Amino acid sequence: MSPVADELRSCYRCDYETTEPLDKCPRCGQRLRSARQVRRLGWVLTILGVFLVAFMGTITVYITRIIAQTDEPGAATRFTGGPEMLLFMYGLFGFVILFGLIAMAGGIWQIKYGKRNRKLAYIILGLGVIFLLIGWLVRLLR
Ligand SMILES: [Zn+2]
Repeated sequence: MSPVADELRSCYRCDYETTEPLDKCPRCGQRLRSARQVRRLGWVLTILGVFLVAFMGTITVYITRIIAQTDEPGAATRFTGGPEMLLFMYGLFGFVILFGLIAMAGGIWQIKYGKRNRKLAYIILGLGVIFLLIGWLVRLLR
């Protein structure tokens, strides 16, 4: 598909913007994305965010229910971890939910404006790196 003139095209790397029908960014050489492509990616990001929040929310509710009934006699499932384990688990759940919410915000922004929100993109990237680091640390400490 050839670029359409007058459509906003932006660079994902340096945020260059133009309405010229260019294929590549004249500033950094990265492929330019049309507003339509950015919006499509925005939908993907939004759906991913909604899925993460719904998924993690469901797990949080489920685990909380198990913990709440642990002291009841005859409970089918019991939580056997300590308070550190609880703190770690809820921290992790909260982190993933936060990640999902920010992904949603970034996605909605892209759908609305047809370009990327650089700050949100950096936050998402930063959180992703932190998440990987935590996973790596947990494996190391085990
Ligand atoms: Zn560029």
